[in-house]
Amino acid sequence: MANSLYPRLFAPLDLGFTSLKNRVLMGSMHTGLEDGNKHDRLAAYFAERARGEVGLIVTGGYAPNRVGGVKPFAGKLSTRSEAKKHQQVTSAVHAENGKIAMQILHAGRYAYHPFAVAPSKIRSPITPFTPRALSTRGVEKQIGDFVRCAQLAREAGYDGIEIMGSEGYFINEFLVKHTNQRTDQWGGDYTQRMRLPVEIVERTREAVGSDFIIIYRLSMIDLIPDGSSWEETVMLAKAIESAGATIINTGIGWHEARVPTIATSVPRGAFAWVTKKMKSEVSIPLVTSNRINLPGTAEEILADGCADMVSMARPLLADPEFVRKAHEGRADEINVCIACNQACLDHTFANKMSSCLVNPRACHETELNYIEAPTKRKFAVVGSGPAGISSALVLAERGHNVDMYEAASQVGGQLNMARMIPGKEEFHEMLDYFRRQIELKGVHVHLDTRVTAEDLTDKGYDEVIIATGVTPRDPNIDGQDHPKVLSYIDVLRDHAPVGKRVAIIGAGGIGFDVAEFLLHDGHSPTMNLDEWLAEWGVVDPAEARGGLARERTQPRPVREITLLQRKAGKHGANLGKTTGWIHRAALKMHQVQMIGDVNYERIGDEGLLISYGEKRENPTWIDVDNVVMCAGQVPLRELQEPLQAAGIKTHLIGGADIASELDAKRAIDQGSRLAAGL
Ligand code: NAP
Ligand code: SF4
Repeated sequence: MANSLYPRLFAPLDLGFTSLKNRVLMGSMHTGLEDGNKHDRLAAYFAERARGEVGLIVTGGYAPNRVGGVKPFAGKLSTRSEAKKHQQVTSAVHAENGKIAMQILHAGRYAYHPFAVAPSKIRSPITPFTPRALSTRGVEKQIGDFVRCAQLAREAGYDGIEIMGSEGYFINEFLVKHTNQRTDQWGGDYTQRMRLPVEIVERTREAVGSDFIIIYRLSMIDLIPDGSSWEETVMLAKAIESAGATIINTGIGWHEARVPTIATSVPRGAFAWVTKKMKSEVSIPLVTSNRINLPGTAEEILADGCADMVSMARPLLADPEFVRKAHEGRADEINVCIACNQACLDHTFANKMSSCLVNPRACHETELNYIEAPTKRKFAVVGSGPAGISSALVLAERGHNVDMYEAASQVGGQLNMARMIPGKEEFHEMLDYFRRQIELKGVHVHLDTRVTAEDLTDKGYDEVIIATGVTPRDPNIDGQDHPKVLSYIDVLRDHAPVGKRVAIIGAGGIGFDVAEFLLHDGHSPTMNLDEWLAEWGVVDPAEARGGLARERTQPRPVREITLLQRKAGKHGANLGKTTGWIHRAALKMHQVQMIGDVNYERIGDEGLLISYGEKRENPTWIDVDNVVMCAGQVPLRELQEPLQAAGIKTHLIGGADIASELDAKRAIDQGSRLAAGL
């Protein structure tokens, strides 16, 4: 059945020997469930997505051998006994009428262990281990291991495999000169360098037969200096098609690229045009990828002829029912991935199990479930930030009666400030989702209502959840009452006028946000693809190798901003592992001065007086029109004591619990988990 809202997205895709029910490919994503024996959890995780009607699921990467693992003890598939364990996963997906392919990922020089191998002995800029250069026989062995891994995947019941040929991993490393300096038959000119992927696909096809899906993930734009030229990329795609691939998937950028490719600030569908360039060059189905998080965006991309399928990975972590909701015309019920990376990729890089900021159940399907409460009770939730809303929604979903009180005239708490930041527009989606769910789940919301403990005591609540959030910390700086001084709330929420020269006190998440806000004066490059591409120096790969401009046009800063902190280390050290560098790079691009190791001596007509180091040396006035305070926050929890004194059971969550770690990930996780157990 084709859906009238998204006719292209829900058109089946005929692959000859099999057919996919729609055009959604769940892109490969490492979650941590691949490592160790977590097949029961994996089975539950993927079965939920298959039940949600994903057209074709691709697993996280499995190494074809030990040296190809991304880290020590990474999930691999090289033995029959390992294959047997995967059957739990494949049969769970098939039981839900889904299809699943296994990704074969050889990390090459990106491997985070000392046994890494690569075409040449050249260390990557993002790993500490120098790889061993493979001998000619060693290369042959790797190819054999790919083929064997594919055969085992078939034995394990997978419908296909994806050969990971992009993102700068092993196969990709053979393609470009600076990582492949070999002089044997696997190096040399491009036809020699591309032999490895072609041989892998050809020999795999021979081994697995004609009725098995082979997806090849091909780096369509490397985004590294001296990456592949467009001519080379097309040559490779054609050869991969001839070698027997069923589908070509798009890879964007090597991991070492200094261009953001999936973060929130990347415009939606920012790289679909690259896949579109390839459309006329090959005749097998093409998949496009990166920053596609809504069914409407996916449909537009397909309608524009960019690809035959769209790949979404994180959006399906955020909402396993994404596809089904779109199919049933319930797109406004989709829990939208905000591309924050905070609970998925950042966890992977910290060696922690992935989850999802907006959906703490992701990858925890076997342990976190919102089951109907045995006794229905009456709860008050005070505060409607992410912690309060999440707890209210889970309580209501479980059948409890929930009143949510909010002092402001809208729900969302600090999310309402986050959504004002250029590059963080996805927070609008999160708020829309919350509002819709509040409506659907029947949470009784009381806006413009600042409740006191007395208000709550006589209303018959069984328990009260205090999610009242935070208040800005008083930094206690001499002269902080000067009219030049503003708080981040004055700037972001109340839109106070701000001068051209600004000092920001505090370089945490909010200091960075305020800097971004002031730099763009309400304008967001994320909302304009051409501007965004130019800002990051991305060009058509037919114009320059790797799609990187030879020269970058630096934007003219709207304001002179100085971002200050007292500690000596790098600014924004606590920002996300995979996104912190983007925020720092964006501010540097706009010539923001970042100064650390300072003391705030005084604020006066002259501006902000700082000194340096413990000895308070070199006192210097920074001549600014405004000083914006972003010095962190303290919990707001004045309700707790009187409620407890009145004998009412209370729970503290979110910023009201711990302000220093205040972030939406912890708030939503804490709110949801608490409510799941009440
Ligand atoms: P924060 O990250 O804890 O940063 C507070 C800043 O204030 C630090 O730079 C700190 O640096 C400074 N500071 C602390 N005490 C001070 C004092 N007494 N006087 C002057 N400066 C002081 O807090 P935040 O920026 O308010 O952010 C709150 C949380 O929101 C973050 O932890 C983050 O999780 C979340 N958030 C995240 C993002 C994001 O992009 N991921 C964006 C917004 C908010 P020094 O002590 O070195 O001076
Ligand atoms: Fe998307 Fe953030 Fe969830 Fe990752 S953690 S899936 S980026 S919303």
